[in-house]
Amino acid sequence: MNSALSKFLFFYPVTLSKGEPIAFLIGDYRRNQWLPLQKIQELQLKLFKEIMQHSIANSVFYRELYRKHGVSVNDIQTLDDIKSLPIVSKDDLIQSLDIISTKNKNFFASTKTTGGSTGQPVKLFKDALALARERCATSRAYEWAGIGLGDSQLRFWGVPHSKNARRMAHLTDIIANRKRVSAFNLTDDSLASYYDESKVYKPKYVYGYVSVIERFARFIVDNNLDPLPSVKAVITTAEVLNSNARSVIESAFQVNVYNEYGCGEVGSIAHQCEVGNMHIMADNLYVEVDGTDSGEIIVTDFFNRATPLIRYRLGDFATLSSAICPCGRGFPIIDAIHGRAYDLLEMPSGKKMHPESVIYVFEQIQQETNAFKQFQVIQHSVNTIEAKIIANVNWSEAVSNRLISELKKHIDRSVHFSVTQVDTLPREKSGKMRLVKRNF
Ligand SMILES: [Zn+2]
Repeated sequence: MNSALSKFLFFYPVTLSKGEPIAFLIGDYRRNQWLPLQKIQELQLKLFKEIMQHSIANSVFYRELYRKHGVSVNDIQTLDDIKSLPIVSKDDLIQSLDIISTKNKNFFASTKTTGGSTGQPVKLFKDALALARERCATSRAYEWAGIGLGDSQLRFWGVPHSKNARRMAHLTDIIANRKRVSAFNLTDDSLASYYDESKVYKPKYVYGYVSVIERFARFIVDNNLDPLPSVKAVITTAEVLNSNARSVIESAFQVNVYNEYGCGEVGSIAHQCEVGNMHIMADNLYVEVDGTDSGEIIVTDFFNRATPLIRYRLGDFATLSSAICPCGRGFPIIDAIHGRAYDLLEMPSGKKMHPESVIYVFEQIQQETNAFKQFQVIQHSVNTIEAKIIANVNWSEAVSNRLISELKKHIDRSVHFSVTQVDTLPREKSGKMRLVKRNF
């Protein structure tokens, strides 16, 4: 579809009908990126106080939390003062969603359930204006890659397991002018047909999981195929982009790769600019680390008034930089993200599957049962996969059996799946939490 047609016929009207005035906000977002750091920090301080004020007035959880710690909005005079406020954990969000959320959750708010990078599925509400602002920040960052709203996208992504969800995904893809290729089905044959279809579809850019685009890129390189002529940029997401992956993707597509970093709870957090630095979307979020320069990321969402997240601990590790980027944008830089690193699973047939296919199953079971706190999946051999579970009170033999049968159904019936209950899940030496691990 033509980009302008997609933008004006579908994207703006559909998002506006959901209460998201993107066309009216995007100008501010384009301007904000050129503000000097000091102006951005002034804006952040103002927005931080506003969301704190709103939360104290409307969220039982924050009112109680700050009362208990004896802190109020008046204590926040500089951005450094934010460090005196208590941190909110994933456990808090899971256990206290109702009292963290405000009455805004009923007004144009959507529900988000996320697998989370650390294997703790999380649910929250996000109001439409906050969602619109998230989309504005993302669109602005895509402009850095030369991609405009409505440009056609080749999307390497998960395909929902249930039929209804699949239909919804297809509809969303049409509205967003994108073609989805399954990250769950990666054989040489399927990659060959994705390549042929892409030549016909002519996407302006490629988007998706690092590991899957890397696999597709390797296929292009190994088979001496031409780069797709319509593709102007590759935007990778959801996983760490190492230099090997970057170079194989760049040589396959002959364009620049732009990495994005985000999470389900707050959306888009940081994006790479033309120079290659990861800029924080500082007009939507306040990002800190639990440590001097490196540590677990703590994030505040300035705009989500439905389920406010103030000093929320994400679980990913990062290093912040105080460098100024030569691109001229004032937004602070994240030096390194030691977040998600995924291994592709290998089936007895030789088929490779993206770990999100497994994560979808856990998310679905969790939505229905709320029976575990965290999980990790380990493939010990081509025939054996173990799910480690930190259970909660809702866990039962029936849930365990259900999990195994869903895994068999959606992953591979010839694989032996087992479930082990554990008390803790170890991190890698680097601090990474490997949600899905292949141990052979
Ligand atoms: Zn830059």
